[in-house]
Amino acid sequence: MPVGFGFDIHRLVARRRLVLGGVEIPHPKGLLGHSDGDALLHALIDALLGAAGLGDIGTWFPDRDPANMGVSSVVLLEKVLRKLRSKWSVVNVDVTVVAEAPRIGPHRDAIVHRLVAMLGTNRVSVKAKTMEGLGPIGAGKAIACFAVAELKARGLRHKASGGRARARPRKR
Ligand code: MG
Repeated sequence: MPVGFGFDIHRLVARRRLVLGGVEIPHPKGLLGHSDGDALLHALIDALLGAAGLGDIGTWFPDRDPANMGVSSVVLLEKVLRKLRSKWSVVNVDVTVVAEAPRIGPHRDAIVHRLVAMLGTNRVSVKAKTMEGLGPIGAGKAIACFAVAELKARGLRHKASGGRARARPRKR
């Protein structure tokens, strides 16, 4: 099973909307970035690209490109999913958000629903941690996200379901 891992961190600054997982979260600060700064979706995009062997978010969406200025990261995720669609389906996604504030728990269901709708799998997990006040994340200066994604080659059935693998090993 191809598995990919992604990480991202963005600074929290005043006068920015806070968007995580495509969901706007009320907070006095938001994530600084060339795009909307959605660190959750950026980590997830890197996990998906890593699993598919397709490089990373910076290769596909350079922050030097004015077309990516202020873009919604949902649009970036949709573009990545279109790249994957011919060969891969998403089996499982697991995300951890590391933030001292705001509390992610009250927004978790909204984020999961958003991801389920986009990814086409209901095996989506979003977890939240604080840094116990330690370091720049603990001081509320940044939010970091980790993501793992598992893909399945289209046409390949799970052995556990009794099917035989029909897809050839992937070429990278
Ligand atoms: Mg980023």
